[in-house]
Amino acid sequence: MNIAVSACLLGEKVRFDGGHKHDRFVTDELGKYASFVPFCPEAIAFGTPRPSIKLVNRDDNIAVVSNKDGSNLTQKLLDKSYEEIHRIADEKLDGIIFKSRSPSCGFGSAKAYLDNGFADSKTDGVFVSICREKFPLLPMEEEGRLQDAWLRENFVMQLFAYDSIEKLKESRPSMKELVDFHTRNKFLLQAKDEKLYRVLGNIVGNHENLSFDELFANYEHNFKVAISQKSSIKRNRNVLEHMAGFFKNELSSVEKESLHEQIDDYAKKIVPIITPLSTIKLYAKKYNTSYLLAQTFLEPYPKELALRSSLLSSK
Ligand code: SF4
Repeated sequence: MNIAVSACLLGEKVRFDGGHKHDRFVTDELGKYASFVPFCPEAIAFGTPRPSIKLVNRDDNIAVVSNKDGSNLTQKLLDKSYEEIHRIADEKLDGIIFKSRSPSCGFGSAKAYLDNGFADSKTDGVFVSICREKFPLLPMEEEGRLQDAWLRENFVMQLFAYDSIEKLKESRPSMKELVDFHTRNKFLLQAKDEKLYRVLGNIVGNHENLSFDELFANYEHNFKVAISQKSSIKRNRNVLEHMAGFFKNELSSVEKESLHEQIDDYAKKIVPIITPLSTIKLYAKKYNTSYLLAQTFLEPYPKELALRSSLLSSK
Protein backbone atom coordinates (compact mmCIF):
# COMPACT_ATOMS: atom_id res chain seq x y z
CA MET A 1 0.00 0.00 0.00
CA ASN A 2 1.05 3.61 -0.53
CA ILE A 3 1.04 6.06 2.36
CA ALA A 4 1.91 9.72 1.92
CA VAL A 5 3.94 10.93 4.91
CA SER A 6 5.32 14.26 6.07
CA ALA A 7 8.93 13.92 4.93
CA CYS A 8 10.35 14.99 8.32
CA LEU A 9 8.72 11.90 9.93
CA LEU A 10 10.67 9.72 7.52
CA GLY A 11 13.91 11.23 8.81
CA GLU A 12 14.41 13.68 5.95
CA LYS A 13 16.10 16.89 7.09
CA VAL A 14 13.45 19.25 5.77
CA ARG A 15 12.35 21.12 8.88
CA PHE A 16 12.80 24.89 9.15
CA ASP A 17 15.92 24.35 11.30
CA GLY A 18 17.40 21.70 8.99
CA GLY A 19 16.39 18.86 11.32
CA HIS A 20 13.91 15.99 11.12
CA LYS A 21 11.34 14.28 13.39
CA HIS A 22 11.96 10.64 12.53
CA ASP A 23 9.04 8.47 13.68
CA ARG A 24 10.08 4.86 14.31
CA PHE A 25 6.55 3.42 14.31
CA VAL A 26 5.98 4.81 10.82
CA THR A 27 9.28 3.75 9.28
CA ASP A 28 10.09 0.56 11.20
CA GLU A 29 6.59 -0.91 11.75
CA LEU A 30 4.29 0.41 9.02
CA GLY A 31 7.26 0.54 6.66
CA LYS A 32 7.25 -3.29 6.51
CA TYR A 33 3.89 -3.18 4.74
CA ALA A 34 3.82 0.18 2.96
CA SER A 35 5.66 2.28 0.42
CA PHE A 36 5.98 5.89 1.46
CA VAL A 37 5.32 8.98 -0.63
CA PRO A 38 7.09 11.85 1.18
CA PHE A 39 5.92 15.46 0.96
CA CYS A 40 7.06 18.76 2.43
CA PRO A 41 5.25 21.83 1.13
CA GLU A 42 7.33 24.27 3.21
CA ALA A 43 10.69 23.00 1.95
CA ILE A 44 9.44 23.43 -1.62
CA ALA A 45 8.03 26.88 -0.95
CA PHE A 46 10.82 28.35 1.18
CA GLY A 47 13.84 25.99 1.07
CA THR A 48 15.69 24.46 4.06
CA PRO A 49 16.74 25.89 6.47
CA ARG A 50 14.20 28.73 6.48
CA PRO A 51 12.68 31.20 8.93
CA SER A 52 9.82 29.62 10.88
CA ILE A 53 6.22 30.55 10.10
CA LYS A 54 2.97 30.75 12.06
CA LEU A 55 -0.74 30.79 11.34
CA VAL A 56 -2.60 33.97 12.19
CA ASN A 57 -6.38 34.22 12.44
CA ARG A 58 -7.46 37.38 10.61
CA ASP A 59 -11.20 38.01 10.21
CA ASP A 60 -11.86 34.24 10.28
CA ASN A 61 -9.29 33.64 7.53
CA ILE A 62 -6.02 31.92 8.29
CA ALA A 63 -2.91 33.76 7.11
CA VAL A 64 0.62 32.32 6.99
CA VAL A 65 3.05 34.80 8.47
CA SER A 66 6.85 34.79 8.70
CA ASN A 67 8.16 34.80 12.28
CA LYS A 68 11.22 36.66 11.01
CA ASP A 69 9.76 39.79 9.41
CA GLY A 70 5.95 39.40 9.64
CA SER A 71 5.55 39.11 5.86
CA ASN A 72 2.43 37.37 4.54
CA LEU A 73 3.45 34.06 2.93
CA THR A 74 -0.05 32.61 2.51
CA GLN A 75 -0.23 32.55 -1.28
CA LYS A 76 3.24 31.12 -1.76
CA LEU A 77 2.59 28.25 0.67
CA LEU A 78 -0.85 27.60 -0.84
CA ASP A 79 0.58 27.44 -4.39
CA LYS A 80 3.29 24.96 -3.38
CA SER A 81 0.85 22.93 -1.29
CA TYR A 82 -1.41 22.47 -4.32
CA GLU A 83 1.64 21.41 -6.37
CA GLU A 84 2.57 18.82 -3.74
CA ILE A 85 -0.98 17.51 -3.53
CA HIS A 86 -1.22 17.05 -7.30
CA ARG A 87 2.05 15.13 -7.20
CA ILE A 88 1.06 12.78 -4.37
CA ALA A 89 -2.44 12.29 -5.84
CA ASP A 90 -0.82 10.44 -8.77
CA GLU A 91 0.36 7.69 -6.42
CA LYS A 92 -2.89 5.82 -5.63
CA LEU A 93 -2.70 6.58 -1.95
CA ASP A 94 -4.18 4.44 0.82
CA GLY A 95 -3.59 7.00 3.56
CA ILE A 96 -1.70 10.05 4.78
CA ILE A 97 0.30 10.57 8.00
CA PHE A 98 1.03 14.16 8.98
CA LYS A 99 3.47 15.74 11.41
CA SER A 100 1.45 17.15 14.29
CA ARG A 101 1.39 20.82 15.36
CA SER A 102 2.97 22.11 12.15
CA PRO A 103 1.47 25.20 10.41
CA SER A 104 1.36 23.08 7.23
CA CYS A 105 0.90 19.50 8.46
CA GLY A 106 -0.92 19.78 11.82
CA PHE A 107 -4.06 17.63 11.65
CA GLY A 108 -6.29 19.81 13.81
CA SER A 109 -3.30 20.54 16.06
CA ALA A 110 -1.71 23.58 14.36
CA LYS A 111 -1.82 26.66 16.59
CA ALA A 112 -3.48 29.75 15.19
CA TYR A 113 -2.49 33.08 16.77
CA LEU A 114 -4.05 36.51 16.96
CA ASP A 115 -2.19 39.45 15.43
CA ASN A 116 -1.23 40.53 18.94
CA GLY A 117 0.74 37.28 19.35
CA PHE A 118 -1.66 35.50 21.70
CA ALA A 119 -2.59 31.90 20.89
CA ASP A 120 -6.17 31.79 19.61
CA SER A 121 -7.20 28.23 18.67
CA LYS A 122 -6.10 24.95 17.18
CA THR A 123 -6.76 24.28 13.53
CA ASP A 124 -5.66 22.33 10.47
CA GLY A 125 -2.39 23.23 8.81
CA VAL A 126 -2.52 24.70 5.32
CA PHE A 127 -1.58 21.45 3.58
CA VAL A 128 -4.01 19.40 5.71
CA SER A 129 -6.97 21.67 4.86
CA ILE A 130 -6.41 21.05 1.16
CA CYS A 131 -5.90 17.31 1.68
CA ARG A 132 -9.23 17.04 3.53
CA GLU A 133 -10.96 18.67 0.57
CA LYS A 134 -9.14 16.68 -2.09
CA PHE A 135 -9.27 13.24 -0.38
CA PRO A 136 -12.41 13.25 1.81
CA LEU A 137 -12.50 9.46 2.39
CA LEU A 138 -8.79 8.73 2.60
CA PRO A 139 -7.49 7.50 6.00
CA MET A 140 -5.55 10.39 7.57
CA GLU A 141 -3.88 10.82 10.94
CA GLU A 142 -1.05 12.75 12.51
CA GLU A 143 1.90 11.25 14.31
CA GLY A 144 1.04 12.87 17.67
CA ARG A 145 -2.41 11.22 17.78
CA LEU A 146 -0.87 7.91 16.72
CA GLN A 147 0.84 7.74 20.13
CA ASP A 148 -2.64 6.90 21.47
CA ALA A 149 -3.04 3.10 21.25
CA TRP A 150 -6.79 3.32 20.43
CA LEU A 151 -6.35 5.87 17.64
CA ARG A 152 -3.37 3.93 16.29
CA GLU A 153 -5.32 0.66 16.17
CA ASN A 154 -8.29 2.33 14.50
CA PHE A 155 -6.12 4.07 11.94
CA VAL A 156 -4.14 0.96 11.01
CA MET A 157 -7.36 -1.04 10.71
CA GLN A 158 -8.78 1.66 8.45
CA LEU A 159 -5.62 1.71 6.30
CA PHE A 160 -5.71 -2.02 5.63
CA ALA A 161 -9.47 -2.06 5.02
CA TYR A 162 -9.13 0.87 2.62
CA ASP A 163 -6.34 -0.93 0.78
CA SER A 164 -8.51 -4.06 0.56
CA ILE A 165 -11.40 -2.31 -1.19
CA GLU A 166 -9.01 -0.48 -3.51
CA LYS A 167 -7.48 -3.83 -4.48
CA LEU A 168 -10.94 -5.33 -4.98
CA LYS A 169 -11.87 -2.41 -7.26
CA GLU A 170 -8.68 -2.81 -9.29
CA SER A 171 -9.46 -6.51 -9.83
CA ARG A 172 -12.75 -5.54 -11.55
CA PRO A 173 -14.76 -7.93 -9.36
CA SER A 174 -17.91 -9.86 -10.23
CA MET A 175 -21.06 -9.46 -8.14
CA LYS A 176 -20.24 -12.72 -6.40
CA GLU A 177 -16.77 -11.45 -5.47
CA LEU A 178 -18.28 -8.28 -4.02
CA VAL A 179 -20.76 -10.35 -1.97
CA ASP A 180 -17.84 -12.52 -0.73
CA PHE A 181 -15.90 -9.37 0.20
CA HIS A 182 -18.88 -8.04 2.14
CA THR A 183 -19.36 -11.38 3.89
CA ARG A 184 -15.69 -11.50 4.97
CA ASN A 185 -15.98 -7.98 6.39
CA LYS A 186 -19.27 -8.52 8.19
CA PHE A 187 -17.96 -8.42 11.75
CA LEU A 188 -15.42 -5.69 11.08
CA LEU A 189 -18.17 -3.48 9.68
CA GLN A 190 -20.49 -4.28 12.58
CA ALA A 191 -17.75 -3.27 14.99
CA LYS A 192 -17.44 0.04 13.17
CA ASP A 193 -21.01 1.04 12.41
CA GLU A 194 -24.00 -1.28 12.68
CA LYS A 195 -26.25 1.04 10.65
CA LEU A 196 -23.81 1.35 7.75
CA TYR A 197 -23.22 -2.40 7.91
CA ARG A 198 -26.94 -2.87 7.19
CA VAL A 199 -26.85 -0.20 4.44
CA LEU A 200 -23.97 -2.09 2.81
CA GLY A 201 -25.91 -5.37 3.09
CA ASN A 202 -28.84 -3.75 1.28
CA ILE A 203 -26.54 -2.43 -1.43
CA VAL A 204 -25.16 -5.89 -2.23
CA GLY A 205 -28.77 -7.17 -2.14
CA ASN A 206 -29.35 -4.82 -5.13
CA HIS A 207 -33.09 -4.47 -4.62
CA GLU A 208 -33.08 -1.45 -6.96
CA ASN A 209 -31.51 -3.35 -9.86
CA LEU A 210 -28.68 -0.86 -10.31
CA SER A 211 -25.92 -1.46 -12.85
CA PHE A 212 -22.89 -3.12 -11.24
CA ASP A 213 -20.74 0.00 -11.68
CA GLU A 214 -23.32 2.17 -9.91
CA LEU A 215 -23.79 -0.41 -7.19
CA PHE A 216 -20.04 -0.80 -6.63
CA ALA A 217 -19.49 2.98 -6.41
CA ASN A 218 -22.27 3.18 -3.81
CA TYR A 219 -20.80 0.24 -1.87
CA GLU A 220 -17.28 1.67 -2.01
CA HIS A 221 -18.39 5.05 -0.69
CA ASN A 222 -20.34 3.61 2.24
CA PHE A 223 -17.61 1.06 3.03
CA LYS A 224 -15.01 3.84 3.22
CA VAL A 225 -17.26 5.91 5.48
CA ALA A 226 -17.91 2.89 7.74
CA ILE A 227 -14.22 2.05 8.18
CA SER A 228 -13.45 5.65 9.11
CA GLN A 229 -15.59 5.27 12.28
CA LYS A 230 -13.85 4.50 15.54
CA SER A 231 -14.58 1.18 17.22
CA SER A 232 -15.84 0.98 20.79
CA ILE A 233 -15.70 -1.63 23.55
CA LYS A 234 -19.50 -1.91 23.40
CA ARG A 235 -19.60 -2.65 19.67
CA ASN A 236 -16.58 -4.97 19.86
CA ARG A 237 -18.26 -6.83 22.68
CA ASN A 238 -21.42 -7.35 20.60
CA VAL A 239 -19.31 -8.74 17.77
CA LEU A 240 -17.42 -11.07 20.12
CA GLU A 241 -20.73 -12.36 21.53
CA HIS A 242 -22.02 -12.98 17.99
CA MET A 243 -18.85 -14.89 17.14
CA ALA A 244 -19.05 -16.93 20.35
CA GLY A 245 -22.61 -17.90 19.35
CA PHE A 246 -21.19 -19.94 16.45
CA PHE A 247 -19.97 -22.59 18.94
CA LYS A 248 -23.05 -22.87 21.10
CA ASN A 249 -23.56 -26.53 20.13
CA GLU A 250 -19.90 -27.52 20.25
CA LEU A 251 -18.58 -26.11 23.52
CA SER A 252 -19.06 -27.64 26.94
CA SER A 253 -20.67 -25.42 29.56
CA VAL A 254 -17.25 -24.86 31.16
CA GLU A 255 -15.74 -23.76 27.83
CA LYS A 256 -18.71 -21.46 27.12
CA GLU A 257 -18.46 -19.95 30.59
CA SER A 258 -14.75 -19.37 30.19
CA LEU A 259 -15.16 -17.70 26.78
CA HIS A 260 -17.93 -15.41 28.10
CA GLU A 261 -15.75 -14.56 31.09
CA GLN A 262 -12.98 -13.49 28.71
CA ILE A 263 -15.43 -11.31 26.79
CA ASP A 264 -16.70 -9.78 30.06
CA ASP A 265 -13.13 -9.19 31.21
CA TYR A 266 -12.45 -7.43 27.91
CA ALA A 267 -15.53 -5.23 28.41
CA LYS A 268 -14.27 -4.39 31.93
CA LYS A 269 -10.80 -3.56 30.55
CA ILE A 270 -9.17 -6.37 32.52
CA VAL A 271 -7.79 -8.13 29.42
CA PRO A 272 -7.09 -6.79 25.90
CA ILE A 273 -9.29 -7.81 22.98
CA ILE A 274 -6.64 -10.22 21.72
CA THR A 275 -7.53 -12.57 24.63
CA PRO A 276 -11.14 -13.47 23.67
CA LEU A 277 -10.24 -13.18 19.97
CA SER A 278 -7.48 -15.79 20.29
CA THR A 279 -9.90 -18.18 21.99
CA ILE A 280 -12.52 -17.62 19.29
CA LYS A 281 -9.89 -18.22 16.63
CA LEU A 282 -8.80 -21.42 18.35
CA TYR A 283 -12.38 -22.78 18.41
CA ALA A 284 -12.98 -21.63 14.83
CA LYS A 285 -9.96 -23.70 13.78
CA LYS A 286 -10.89 -26.65 15.98
CA TYR A 287 -14.45 -26.84 14.65
CA ASN A 288 -13.47 -25.72 11.14
CA THR A 289 -15.88 -22.78 11.21
CA SER A 290 -14.82 -21.43 7.82
CA TYR A 291 -17.26 -18.49 7.97
CA LEU A 292 -15.51 -17.17 11.09
CA LEU A 293 -12.00 -18.01 9.92
CA ALA A 294 -12.58 -15.86 6.83
CA GLN A 295 -13.62 -12.81 8.90
CA THR A 296 -11.25 -9.85 8.55
CA PHE A 297 -12.19 -8.85 12.12
CA LEU A 298 -10.06 -11.75 13.40
CA GLU A 299 -6.96 -10.33 11.72
CA PRO A 300 -7.63 -6.92 10.12
CA TYR A 301 -3.90 -6.26 9.66
CA PRO A 302 -0.69 -8.31 10.09
CA LYS A 303 -0.67 -9.68 13.64
CA GLU A 304 3.01 -8.75 14.02
CA LEU A 305 1.88 -5.15 14.50
CA ALA A 306 0.46 -6.41 17.84
CA LEU A 307 -1.89 -3.44 18.22
CA ARG A 308 -4.62 -5.39 19.98
CA SER A 309 -2.38 -6.59 22.82
CA SER A 310 -2.78 -3.42 24.83
CA LEU A 311 -5.63 -2.61 27.23
CA LEU A 312 -5.37 0.95 25.91
CA SER A 313 -6.26 -0.07 22.35
CA SER A 314 -9.97 -0.18 23.24
CA LYS A 315 -12.27 2.58 24.47
S1 SF4 B 1 5.87 19.28 9.26
FE1 SF4 B 1 5.35 19.25 7.10
S2 SF4 B 1 6.06 21.21 6.29
FE2 SF4 B 1 7.04 20.93 8.28
S3 SF4 B 1 9.01 19.96 7.83
FE3 SF4 B 1 7.58 18.31 8.23
S4 SF4 B 1 6.78 17.79 6.20
FE4 SF4 B 1 7.75 19.79 6.01
